[in-house]
This record gives sequence, structure tokens and C-alpha cells, in this order.
Amino acid sequence: MRSIHDNLQAVRDRIARAAAAAARRPESVTLVAVSKTHGAPLVAEASAAGQRAFGENYVQEALDKMDALRQDENARGIEWHLVGPLQSNKTRVVAARFDWVQSVESGKIARRLSEARLEAQAPLNVLLQVNVSGEATKSGVMPGEVRSLAAEVKALPRLRLRGLMAIPEPGADAARYRELNDLYRGLQGEFGFDTLSMGMTDDMEQAIAQGATMVRIGTAIFGARQKIRPAA
Ligand SMILES: *Cc1c(COP(=O)(O)O)cnc(C)c1O
Repeated sequence: MRSIHDNLQAVRDRIARAAAAAARRPESVTLVAVSKTHGAPLVAEASAAGQRAFGENYVQEALDKMDALRQDENARGIEWHLVGPLQSNKTRVVAARFDWVQSVESGKIARRLSEARLEAQAPLNVLLQVNVSGEATKSGVMPGEVRSLAAEVKALPRLRLRGLMAIPEPGADAARYRELNDLYRGLQGEFGFDTLSMGMTDDMEQAIAQGATMVRIGTAIFGARQKIRPAA
């Protein structure tokens, strides 16, 4: 098995090639390493290999990892992103300990995050999760409701609205990604967006071709996940 260091390099190469193919600079795509289900030692290893941003899906699992890494020299300066669903009873701790929340899909959650974000901290970076495929079963706000939610979130003092996040269904065609990019660009000027988060291990090339500025990669960096997941 290859090392985390080698896997990270391979992912960076994929990003650079996809960016070049789209006549974009590789630095225009931020890599978030999604470490859910993988332990703190692997996060430390990736951090030591130069990876800065890490994504987690489950709040309690993430907090345990943050605690485990607190004294770890290798884990200095990690930027934590919540990419999984957020329930309102977790907003206080999430606002205090994460740097980004990519899964905001309601004004209620956004207000609670803003109220809980400490004055001593920089505003919490947030993305609105969009349900681009329009499926009832997936989370995220419907495309037609993004503008009004953006206006609501933009007005909250302790949040910094950065853009949109989506999880296109596996095998989605280019039109889905383009739809999201169109939505993003349509709101970019009005809301000062600089982040379009889409693309995972299997679709990062597709997402970068259609304008992703942030990709969230788990499997290609850390290997396959265990099926059983800890409780959120
Ligand atoms: C698990 C997860 C990822 C990473 O998926 P891979 O296919 O392992 O790269 C990205 N984004 C979200 C929201 C996830 O839940």
C-alpha cells in the first residue's frame, strides 16, 4: 500500500492535470482531505505531508480527533471543515471548534452558528449546501431557494459566507455540475462568493472541469473507509 504522502501527491497531480485541461491554475483548486472514519494518526501523517484542510462528517468523531491532535507537532495549523449534516443541538460546539461549515442548509442553523461563534475568533466560514439533483432524499437547499438563504446568511455578523457546496450523485453528467457552476456564478458578484465545493475521489476531474474551486477527497488519500460509522 502506498503512503499517505504518496497518495496526497497523486491527488495533487490529478488536480493539477484537471486544472490544466480546463485552462485553470492548479492553485485555483483547494484540496480538503476528508478524514472521516480514519484515526488521528493518519490526519497527523497527512498534515506532516503538507496537507492543511481536513473535512469531517461526524461532529463527535471530529472533536475526538481534534483533542487527540492537540499536542501533536505535526498537526499544527490544521483547518477543520464540517462537511456532514449538522443538527441544531451541535451548533455551539461546531461554531467554537471548526473553521468552516460546508453543510449549511437552513437559516435556523446559520443563526445558531453565528450566535455561538466566539468574538475572539475570526468569523466562521460557511458554504450553503445545494441539492443540485433535486432529489427529495438528499440534503441541501433547492436551487431556487439558494438566493434567499444566501441573503439571510450574509446578514449574520459572525459568519462569512464563502459560496456553495454540493454532492452530485455518482455518475451525474456534466450538465449537473454546470448547473451548479451557473448558480454559483449567478450569485458570486452579489454575495462575494469565492468557493464552489464539489468533487470527490471519483469525480474530481469532472468537477474541476466545471469550475470547482474546492474538492473534498477521502478515499484517494486515506484508502477505503470501514462500513460501520460512528454515531454523529
Ligand atoms: C465522504 C465524503 C467525501 C469524500 O468522498 P471520497 O469519495 O472518499 O473522496 C467528500 N464529501 C463529503 C460530503 C463526504 O461525505
